[in-house]
Amino acid sequence: MKVKMILPALTEAESPFWRPIKYSLFPPLGLATLAAYLDPDDLVEIQDQHVEELYLDDEPDLVVIQVYITNAYRAYNIATHYRQKGAYVVLGGLHVTSLPQEAMPYADSIFLGPGEDTFPQFLQDFKNGTPQKTYRSPIRTLAGLPPVRRELIKRNRYLVPNSLVVTRGCPHHCDFCYKDAFFEGGKSFYTQLVDDALAEIERLPGRHLYFLDDHLLGNVKFATALFDGMRGMNRVFQAASTLDGILRGNLIEKAAEAGLRSVFVGFETFSPENLRQSNKRQNMVNDYQKAVNRLHSLGIMINGSFVFGLDHDNTDVFKRTVDWGVQQALTTATYHILTPYPGTRLFKEMQKNGRIMTRNWNLYDTRNVVYQTKGLSQQELKDGYDWAYREFYSWRNIFRASLRHESDKHKLKHLLYSGGWKKFEPFWNFLIKTRGLNHMLPLLEAILSKVKPASSPSMANPEPVKLVLAGAEKS
Ligand code: SF4
Repeated sequence: MKVKMILPALTEAESPFWRPIKYSLFPPLGLATLAAYLDPDDLVEIQDQHVEELYLDDEPDLVVIQVYITNAYRAYNIATHYRQKGAYVVLGGLHVTSLPQEAMPYADSIFLGPGEDTFPQFLQDFKNGTPQKTYRSPIRTLAGLPPVRRELIKRNRYLVPNSLVVTRGCPHHCDFCYKDAFFEGGKSFYTQLVDDALAEIERLPGRHLYFLDDHLLGNVKFATALFDGMRGMNRVFQAASTLDGILRGNLIEKAAEAGLRSVFVGFETFSPENLRQSNKRQNMVNDYQKAVNRLHSLGIMINGSFVFGLDHDNTDVFKRTVDWGVQQALTTATYHILTPYPGTRLFKEMQKNGRIMTRNWNLYDTRNVVYQTKGLSQQELKDGYDWAYREFYSWRNIFRASLRHESDKHKLKHLLYSGGWKKFEPFWNFLIKTRGLNHMLPLLEAILSKVKPASSPSMANPEPVKLVLAGAEKS
């Protein structure tokens, strides 16, 4: 059987003139994971439109398309194209799970939620000539997961080919997050067997790893065993955690010993009202400053995530957030305009109150305002968001933030990572076009090398930061 697996891109990602690096970071791991269930005799190809031009003149028997919100229209067009050619087309992913009725007309079968249990069942049904229209499995397990078909990934087209996911979901329930809708009807947080995760790590070449798990530290028992098992493997890795994961017990120290060098942290907002409204309880009881100090004392770089446009934001939120990030020496910041993804509690609430302004999914990219705002006008929100990115990544602020670290090595790492990420887009564009991205891995590994733990960032010369966290004024 000929099988084609496709990850369509949003329009911007395939411009022949300009290829932002963010679209060439990670390979389509989800498709490579599902490919492992195919028969060894099947002829399978994975095409990722973010890094290659799609070839649409072929004649596969089965087409599997992964759909997320901003590639949805394109995914439907590709599905229609292949169905007209007689292929059997299946659609799955976050957007299909959120809006099955929308996706259904474009597919022969749809997958709701994670596919590890349902895809093998579908393949069996397909071979027997009895495929169902919809697959949703309440069984959630990663036990017995076959090895990801990494040989189908074109490694040289990605900056971070060694990405992996060893858990699924997250133990928390933030209102704006897709997670609850995706995992509805079964467990919403579960892990691989530790031995399987370690075996997958062993199979990956080089030193660098990027865990794409929503919350790698979410299950203490699993994470402890994983980090213990990784000690001595000489790896450097990046991952995501919540604030409570960082502050709980000594897990973050274990992660650092295992090679954690950079972590994505969802700070999201400084307003207790916003946290409460978003059901982001795990941030309410935690001290942002303490988490930052602890990470820096371990030599771990921080990518802080922030959301603008929550109902209790006003026009000073942008400056306060950028200033705080610079003063706390965050290496990178990811800003988002609040986006009510379909299927989330936020979307349902906004829809009930008539606040959804458009259902053009192309605009649901966290860079556009798609809902009726409250504390800010739509223009103020968009302008403030754009300003925040420009300001945080100005050379002045990159230098200011890097100088706040104690050790020279950490200062240099900060400068290279933050500057390299946002200030050398033409260089990245050149590497993407010349397929040379993979050659940058040794440099990335060098930047992520260990720094001698310091007491805290730049605390030799602290600037006072006025913040309101969890109802308490801190300075
Ligand atoms: S902590 Fe992050 S991944 Fe978990 S529910 Fe909240 S937003 Fe989603």
